[in-house]
Amino acid sequence: MRIMIVEDDQTLGKAMSASLTYSEFAVDWVGTVADARHLVTSENYDAVVLDLGLPDRDGYDLVRHLRGSGMSVPVLILTARDAVEDRVQGLDLGADDYLVKPVAMAELQARLRALIRRSHGRGDSQVRMGRLQLDIPGKRALLDGQAVELSGREWAVLEYLVIHQRRIVSKEQLIQAITGLGQDLSGNAIEAYVHRLRNKLEASGAVIRTVRGLGYMMEETDGTTL
Ligand code: CA
Repeated sequence: MRIMIVEDDQTLGKAMSASLTYSEFAVDWVGTVADARHLVTSENYDAVVLDLGLPDRDGYDLVRHLRGSGMSVPVLILTARDAVEDRVQGLDLGADDYLVKPVAMAELQARLRALIRRSHGRGDSQVRMGRLQLDIPGKRALLDGQAVELSGREWAVLEYLVIHQRRIVSKEQLIQAITGLGQDLSGNAIEAYVHRLRNKLEASGAVIRTVRGLGYMMEETDGTTL
């Protein structure tokens, strides 16, 4: 899952980036509304964490811009402004959640996960496909209740595919979802992760199909055949 942080406070920006990266989010951090507007046109984000007091413009301007351009990416406002009017304005403009600083990183992450799940039409934190169960907050995949050993990147690819199950996901989308700006990952690397996941999930009833020329699609089968 790829997150854009818009925060001009260096200490907080650094702390949030580190904490989210550690939890296998791909993170891009910018300090101005102008940079954020620039990035949202070229990159695909699963959620945006937005400060309001920014050096060039008010954070509300970014919400207006996103919604005015028809972009539905979930926005979580994270600000020191705790007045009711601010919350109301932010939510009325189209932000999805509003947190007042200081915030515990664990809560920020939980709120982000909830926003992302809701935006994909899934309110639940446990997703089942065949004999496979994904514990999204716990970042664990279970097969018949037994934990499947996954690297951080393998988890990130699997989580994205499961959340977008029965839809075609391109390699480019997967690369965007698991890397931040300036991190390079090739299509071959994605193929390697998918190959390993297929081995680990063999006969689980959840399969990653290759859709020729387009990407992948995760589906449930009857659990016995591939
Ligand atoms: Ca600020």
